[in-house]
Amino acid sequence: MIPYGRQNISGDDIAAVIDVLHSEWLTQGPGIASFEQALAAACKAKHAIAVSNATGALHIACLALGVGQGDVVWTSPNTFVASANCARYCGADVDFVDIDPQTLNICVKQLADKLEHARTAGRLPKVVIPVHFSGRSCDMEAIAALGKKYGFRIIEDASHAVGAEHLGMPVGACQFSDIAIFSFHPVKIITTGEGGMLMTNDTALAKRLGRLRTHGIAQSAEELLSPLVGPWEYQQVELGFNYRMTNLQAALGLSQLKRLPEFIARRRQLARQYHELLADLPIVRPLPSDESAWHLYAIRVPADRRLEVFTKLREAQVWVQVHYMPVHTQAYYRNLGFGPGDFPEAEDYFSKAFSLPLYYGLTDEEQLSVVALLRSYLA
Ligand SMILES: *Cc1c(COP(=O)(O)O)cnc(C)c1O
Repeated sequence: MIPYGRQNISGDDIAAVIDVLHSEWLTQGPGIASFEQALAAACKAKHAIAVSNATGALHIACLALGVGQGDVVWTSPNTFVASANCARYCGADVDFVDIDPQTLNICVKQLADKLEHARTAGRLPKVVIPVHFSGRSCDMEAIAALGKKYGFRIIEDASHAVGAEHLGMPVGACQFSDIAIFSFHPVKIITTGEGGMLMTNDTALAKRLGRLRTHGIAQSAEELLSPLVGPWEYQQVELGFNYRMTNLQAALGLSQLKRLPEFIARRRQLARQYHELLADLPIVRPLPSDESAWHLYAIRVPADRRLEVFTKLREAQVWVQVHYMPVHTQAYYRNLGFGPGDFPEAEDYFSKAFSLPLYYGLTDEEQLSVVALLRSYLA
């Protein structure tokens, strides 16, 4: 079977995890700070905070930016549900901004229009969460300018974009955002099994995030609300969570991070090859990019052929997948009042889309066989 995405674990990756198993530190341990520092350096960000998964990262990112009941958070409908759910965890409302059908990212023009209406209605978002769909950065400079104008904070959902670049900087540098988050789920660019990371240049935010990931317990003397009386004492100063990454995961992450340039180079090469190989088929290809991390290669076929082509590929053991069913059309969000027709660009894209296999270990032969199947169905 050829899946749409797959991790690649080397002998060195395995050795790194085994070393931790032989050590004293299975859960909290020195490997976590090493992984955080290495990723912060790779992304040119000041701080990195490792967590148990990107969903938890989004949750505490919202909390740290003060999202709560009565607030609104906006995101893209073309994303995994976690990008929206994080606001709901905080008791806030969610709204969406439709996508640009070219980039498949949040549409800056629609964002600007919606903000103008929201200002009139007195219901501006507290936080906007742009999602770098497939590993291609959103237009962060424009979004940051709107953030200044309308007073919202920005969390980049960069789950797809570890290793991507934007305007000459690594994604995760937070040049145009308060916080960026990454996912290390096995289908993403690098993996820790489950895992996530928050990036920020704001030292106060970094402190708060570190505390929220570990039960709200003060991590340093200046966070204490009153002096500690005994050496056994620790002080919970707010309500936090156990969102810690383990030392085992961090060791795997650090080892995978060393391979990131190689992973990205191969993904970009495969994307360039797809672009050439699919040129003469009735397929809308993603915009070419040598800055994207290419987590996904999402094509569009005519809507009336999608089910047939998708089914035939799966019957041929090519495990394509659709990214994404628009979040506002999920049953949970329909119950909140959203429904089909609300965000027509995301819905139109979804009706035609599926993602072709794209991962580091995909061979040229496998890629050619996928293209040959597509050709036989569509040519
Ligand atoms: C994978 C993903 C998440 C959640 O990541 P986990 O690490 O599995 O919690 C969030 N947002 C997007 C866009 C994703 O693709």
